[in-house]
Amino acid sequence: SNHHSEFQTAHSLRALGDFYYRDAQPTAVANAQWIAFNQDLANQLNIPASEQDTDEGLAIWSGNQTPEWAKPAALAYAGHQFANLVPQLGDGRALLLAEVVDHHGKHWDVQLKGAGRTPFSRGGDGRSAIGPVLREYLLSEAMHALGIPTTRALAAVASGEMVFRDEGVPGAVFTRVASSHLRVGSFQYALLHGGNEKVKTLADYTIKRHFPHIAKSTNAGNPYLAFLQHVAERQAELVNNWLRVGFIHGVMNTDNTSICGETIDYGPAAFMDVYNPAKVFSSIDRRGRYAFNKQPEIAKWNLARLAETLLPLLTADESSDATADQKEAAIALATRVLDEYSEYSEQLWLANMGAKLGIQHATKSDKPLMQAFLALLQHQNVDFTQAFWQLANELNCTQIATTGPQSPASTLFTNPMEYTEWRQRWLERLIENDNNAEQVQASMRKVNPAIIPRNHRVAEAIKAAEEDGDLTRFHELLEAWQEPYKMPMSALQVELYQAPKESEEVTRT
Ligand code: AMP
Ligand code: MG
Ligand code: MG
Repeated sequence: SNHHSEFQTAHSLRALGDFYYRDAQPTAVANAQWIAFNQDLANQLNIPASEQDTDEGLAIWSGNQTPEWAKPAALAYAGHQFANLVPQLGDGRALLLAEVVDHHGKHWDVQLKGAGRTPFSRGGDGRSAIGPVLREYLLSEAMHALGIPTTRALAAVASGEMVFRDEGVPGAVFTRVASSHLRVGSFQYALLHGGNEKVKTLADYTIKRHFPHIAKSTNAGNPYLAFLQHVAERQAELVNNWLRVGFIHGVMNTDNTSICGETIDYGPAAFMDVYNPAKVFSSIDRRGRYAFNKQPEIAKWNLARLAETLLPLLTADESSDATADQKEAAIALATRVLDEYSEYSEQLWLANMGAKLGIQHATKSDKPLMQAFLALLQHQNVDFTQAFWQLANELNCTQIATTGPQSPASTLFTNPMEYTEWRQRWLERLIENDNNAEQVQASMRKVNPAIIPRNHRVAEAIKAAEEDGDLTRFHELLEAWQEPYKMPMSALQVELYQAPKESEEVTRT
């Protein structure tokens, strides 16, 4: 119900000066055709009905017409790509149209992706292919439904033009909504091209926009230290949520690390099927830098890059350069935040894995039981999502007991004996806490999805769209993934619950 709310836009980032962005206009496309429009999200943002899934909307969300409320800008940022610093990246195929202000006063960036070249395009065409657009649409909306912070999909429009990657493929324009597009790379850009003053301006802005309680708090001794701590907390929470659902981001470069802690930039992102901690989807990630289990460590590496940009703000007063002592003190403060990140991330991992196994208040002493289960999955090639879902089915009883009928989960294992032994330990552990099976099962269902956007299904939808212009599968999947924890499942959801046969497993290139 948004009857009392009006569509309201702002351009607060522009007030910081054009150091942080470049003006740019969308380039019109040949023949805009609807792929999808997210009416629920549009309504939350109070986007006028006339600019939603209408002809006028099609013109706006394809970049063919710039509405009067938009002031399109390409944001500047740098980034470490696979650990190599690129001093200038920036929005090469994205344009911020405006910030939409919701009725809580919160600003949402609305950005066109694939709307043509910008001053940051370098050799690129500024366009998006339909495959990555459909992938981002499906994955980001599924991520939202899973309850994990993410950018959202507002619209997707086919351009009627071909784009050339390895071959010619249909093009599309995607509209992304984010709490903001500020990244670790935004701060790196500020430091590299403008120095401490530009970092400070951006940090003050970001604190006000994303962490207003820091600015307001009277006993915030050092707002920049508190800022770093908050970004670190959000990254720890985000990455542990990814680990909970088997998500692999794929390109955790510092330019793809959002300051507000949302999942952003679904390039080669995918959910894994069979559990493999070293799983990588991106074909360019040959060394496994961004493998599944490396993600917490990589987030920390990225936070260290953010910390470096903030060092001068942590101790020195603004008017003078830092002394050697101040520099050392700043490094000590930043190091402590990074250490705290590791501790917090470890706590979250225990809590997450505990929740997945139905163990409340899990502690370090539960780690061997957790690791043993993961090792079983890994060594017996068991599907990650199905394993945890079926584990909850072990509790289809009133009271948890260690003896009982043969277990539903054991069929997933090629060597069920090993599983049965583990199951005995697990049930004993559950009984220590509480033997109310129904309650434990319900708690497990809340954190273990039945269906995730399986990669072979995403690939199937993309193929149908690319080869036959058929979006039926895309729309079916989009809908089915809206209720990932639901029981009972619809017929389609039961189908999507199935893991791929090994031969069907698609690894993206
Ligand atoms: P990404 O791999 O999506 O994180 O993008 C890395 C950088 O390459 C960013 O600066 C993008 O804006 C830029 N980029 C990616 N694709 C294109 C494209 N087709 N045209 C222009 N710039 C691009
Ligand atoms: Mg990116
Ligand atoms: Mg990308």
